Amino acid sequence: MAGSFAQLAKNAEKKKPLITVSKEAVKKPPLEIYMLGQETLRTPANRIVKVDDSIRNLAKDMLITMYSAKGIGLAAPQVGIQKRILVIDLNFEDPTAPPNVFINPEIISSSASLDTYEEGCLSIPGVYLDVVRPSSIKLSYRDEMGRPKKMNAEGLMARCIQHEVDHLNGVLFIDKVTDESELKKQLLENNFNHSDVIKVTS
Ligand code: ZN
Repeated sequence: MAGSFAQLAKNAEKKKPLITVSKEAVKKPPLEIYMLGQETLRTPANRIVKVDDSIRNLAKDMLITMYSAKGIGLAAPQVGIQKRILVIDLNFEDPTAPPNVFINPEIISSSASLDTYEEGCLSIPGVYLDVVRPSSIKLSYRDEMGRPKKMNAEGLMARCIQHEVDHLNGVLFIDKVTDESELKKQLLENNFNHSDVIKVTS
């Protein structure tokens, strides 16, 4: 009996819904991406209490919206939803590679070593500037089934997670740019207001 129960459990595991969406751009994405200057980008997001179908559907819609905008990461506040969820796909050109969905992500440690890398943001199109961040991080989060997970990330994944987790706290990459004159220039060129930058000191 134990054996067949184990088999049943195994089958149930296989049938669990995974978040799979086409990576093709769609003409009418399900969600609107908010731009710099809109309040949602500065409003800290709330923890997700229960990971259910509504959250999985949100993740799907966020992914479709992200692929359509040719992005590699998107946080819920960018689509006007104050929930702590973000999606990332560094392999957007590979239709079979599964994307990452992070629910209630928390950076539990960061490396002392730092990297400088040029960032951009779907909410601030046209602006690309260097940001200094820890080169690797340790993250705790829940996956799309609500299971607690931990991961170590480095390189572009670490960079992307830190950028997106900042969004959940109302922080934008432009707040962390050190080249003030280039920041002003690029914001102006792209019709954004420099007064929407909130300098962070860390
Ligand atoms: Zn962003």
